[in-house]
Amino acid sequence: MLEYKKENCSSCGLCEKVCPFGAIKIQEGFPYIDDNCTECGICAEKCPANAFCVEQKETGKQQTEEYRGFWVVGLEKEGEPLNKVTLELLSTARKLADQKKEKVTLLIKGLQEREDWKREAQKTGCDKILLIASEYSGYDAKLYTDAIECAIRRFKPEAVLFPATVNGRDLAPRVSGRVGTGLTADCTGLSLDENGHLLQVRPTYGGSIMASILTPKHRPQMASVRPNVMEIQWTDEKREVKVEYLEDFSSVAEDRVKLIGCIEKNNAFADLAEANIVIAGGYGLKNKENFGKLFKLCDRLNAAAAATRKAVDEGWAPAEIQVGQTGTTIAPDLYIAFGISGALQHTLGMKNAKKIIAVNHDPAAPIFDICDVAVLGDAGEVLEECCNILENKKA
Ligand SMILES: Cc1cc2nc3c(=O)[nH]c(=O)nc-3n(C[C@H](O)[C@H](O)[C@H](O)COP(=O)(O)OP(=O)(O)OC[C@H]3O[C@@H](n4cnc5c(N)ncnc54)[C@H](O)[C@@H]3O)c2cc1C
Ligand code: SF4
Ligand code: SF4
Repeated sequence: MLEYKKENCSSCGLCEKVCPFGAIKIQEGFPYIDDNCTECGICAEKCPANAFCVEQKETGKQQTEEYRGFWVVGLEKEGEPLNKVTLELLSTARKLADQKKEKVTLLIKGLQEREDWKREAQKTGCDKILLIASEYSGYDAKLYTDAIECAIRRFKPEAVLFPATVNGRDLAPRVSGRVGTGLTADCTGLSLDENGHLLQVRPTYGGSIMASILTPKHRPQMASVRPNVMEIQWTDEKREVKVEYLEDFSSVAEDRVKLIGCIEKNNAFADLAEANIVIAGGYGLKNKENFGKLFKLCDRLNAAAAATRKAVDEGWAPAEIQVGQTGTTIAPDLYIAFGISGALQHTLGMKNAKKIIAVNHDPAAPIFDICDVAVLGDAGEVLEECCNILENKKA
């Protein structure tokens, strides 16, 4: 609750200028606060005379019930079709929303309606696309945070789901901090408990246990979800997808980051979770040099590189490309494994690949039990041969 102490006020007028929601008008020298106040506390922070005080409300049942609908934040780049992870989240949101007879909204940045987005979103059962109207084409943490905060305060969604991608992991905690709610990062499962609260499941203690987390007293409930964990479910229902623009989202924070430029990644380190072909290396590749060859092969084939934890621990590959229980979960069309045993913690992250080719010198390697094509041989030599064949083709 925002409390105003007139006896402290020096009538300086600053609060009218700093309120990002235009909720303060100075009338006859004193601030008058209208219904636009969101209790963000900025006036209390800035007032030189301590004339404002914001008490954190105990968010009881009454207030959480004001929040309705399930939202998905899409972080697509300009010109891209909807990402796989966005469709996975929309499908999950639809399933949850159906249980409460609520609506699903996709919040995404874009200057104009796109028929392909509408079509794909409709197939997952999405009801509305809320477009963050911005000319800027890339990922801008501040812009997204300002816009999503504003949208949450205006429309009060019950739950907001973010992709647990690099940008999603950057954005979700910023937004949860701004709106003062909890966030469960990197969820692998979402459902509703008997009271209709979002039950957020995620691995914890290095993946040794699965924790179930609730946000019973604050709204929205927020979770980021790993790509390739949820299934895309298409629906035949012919819903009309409404498109609205989110405009006039004011900035409430200083811009502390300056974007100097963007450097496109080498193909081998492109978005692993969205890749159609993944080539992975394990301890059987023996050394960093062989990983260098694997990265080159990926670049040539437009594939993403991956590694086991053991290879990452050896320093042969960066941690961001680790696949498995404590790494990324993937579901490519083709997964090629060089010198990987097929330990459960690794296969948990890649078992949904459509085709698996494994190279290993041990006929009893567990990876051979789950692969479509088994190549018995030395991983380094087979990799070298693949590189040579491609090199000769180029020549
Ligand atoms: C809590 C927890 C979480 C974990 N999370 C992950 C995770 O997210 N991702 C992950 O990958 N692991 C994870 N691990 C580790 C996992 O248990 C395995 O140790 C790891 O996946 C093994 O990696 P690897 O297959 O490269 O190595 P190894 O198990 O040592 O297998 C190497 C394989 O290469 C073969 N090989 C050896 N030399 C050659 C050669 N010259 N040519 C061909 N084949 C050869 C061997 O026959 C063997 O099958 C986790 C472990 C724990 C306890
Ligand atoms: S900033 Fe504080 S002192 Fe100045 S007008 Fe507003 S309430 Fe009064
Ligand atoms: S609490 Fe925030 S929204 Fe309310 S009057 Fe102060 S600055 Fe404006």
